[in-house]
Amino acid sequence: MYILENVPLRNYSTMRLGGTAAFLTEVNNRHELVEAAEWAADKNVPIMVIGEGSNIIWDDDGYPGIVVVNKITGITSSGDYDTGVYITAASGENWDNFVAHTTKQGLTGIEFLSLIPGTVGATPVQNVGAYGAEVSSTITTIEAYDTVEKKLVILRGSDCQFGYRTSRFKTTDKGRYLITAVTFFLQKGSPEGPFYGALETYLREHNITDIDPGTIREAVIAIRSSKLPDPKLVANNGSFFANPIVAAGELTQLLADYPTIPYWELGNERIKLSAAWLIEQAGFKDYHDEETGMGTWPKQPLVLVNEHAETTAQLKAFRKKILDAVHIKFGVTLEQEPELV
Ligand SMILES: Cc1cc2nc3c(=O)[nH]c(=O)nc-3n(C[C@H](O)[C@H](O)[C@H](O)COP(=O)(O)OP(=O)(O)OC[C@H]3O[C@@H](n4cnc5c(N)ncnc54)[C@H](O)[C@@H]3O)c2cc1C
Repeated sequence: MYILENVPLRNYSTMRLGGTAAFLTEVNNRHELVEAAEWAADKNVPIMVIGEGSNIIWDDDGYPGIVVVNKITGITSSGDYDTGVYITAASGENWDNFVAHTTKQGLTGIEFLSLIPGTVGATPVQNVGAYGAEVSSTITTIEAYDTVEKKLVILRGSDCQFGYRTSRFKTTDKGRYLITAVTFFLQKGSPEGPFYGALETYLREHNITDIDPGTIREAVIAIRSSKLPDPKLVANNGSFFANPIVAAGELTQLLADYPTIPYWELGNERIKLSAAWLIEQAGFKDYHDEETGMGTWPKQPLVLVNEHAETTAQLKAFRKKILDAVHIKFGVTLEQEPELV
């Protein structure tokens, strides 16, 4: 195992900011990952496995332990039934390549999550979701190295406390499990509508009636490409804030002042609001902040982009401007989606 020291972390976050990692290594198989974990335990330093850094913002202070860059690849089918297929992907596989691989086989379940950047192993961490789908509905088991029990374990999807953009890997067991592989059950056949609003509109406008995993994937890619910046070209972490969830009573008050406020009823008196709409209404549409070097993406104000910021402190200052403006106008507190480490 080759361990580098004092490595600039801006190359390991799509926001391209942050200090240095005390140690950094790359792993190509689960044995190397276990070796890295043992090395960290032996040296008594924290360990963090990362994929492509598309959901991480490194702080200016850097990371005091070892950052492990996950390059573990491999895809295997582990059971073919009339209704669907169990398929296992190593955690370092690129997520979108994996989605392409499954849709080509006519499998349905994750085509709605096409073009989400990052690795397979990161998808359960925040239960990635898009266009009305969440990865958790397809995950059956997760293989991980348990840094407490110091062994490889298998976790059932149903035990992962999945919720909207969350799981046990982000909350109660944060940092404990280093995920090595994820097994999905994907169904044979085609997805059935009605689909999420934007997707439904796209299909109608483009006269697409032949619905299968491939056509849905193409539609999702077309919509996303037209709205979101490519992180290879523009430094960003996708949606910077999660859509806030408020109580029904709070919505009644908001509707009185803002009758056009978009919302979705989640049941149990819980209402999801559109963070993008709140940010836009608070004055941050296509906003370019000279003071911090940060801005919002013209076609999607929920995406904060690093235009010429040099430090994470500048990003935090811009974040504060948005948080304060939204809170003053609507009384709603936005929660950051990418992890600040
Ligand atoms: C343009 C853009 C669009 C996006 N769109 C969406 C979207 O539509 N929906 C959505 O949900 N997200 C979206 N994201 C966020 C991001 O792509 C996902 O969260 C993705 O799953 C992160 O993958 P990654 O490999 O880059 O993870 P990283 O950013 O490297 O890591 C994220 C977190 O997961 C942990 N982690 C990563 N791998 C492992 C592992 N093997 N074991 C244990 N922990 C691990 C890390 O420690 C860290 O805490 C978007 C991001 C961008 C830049």
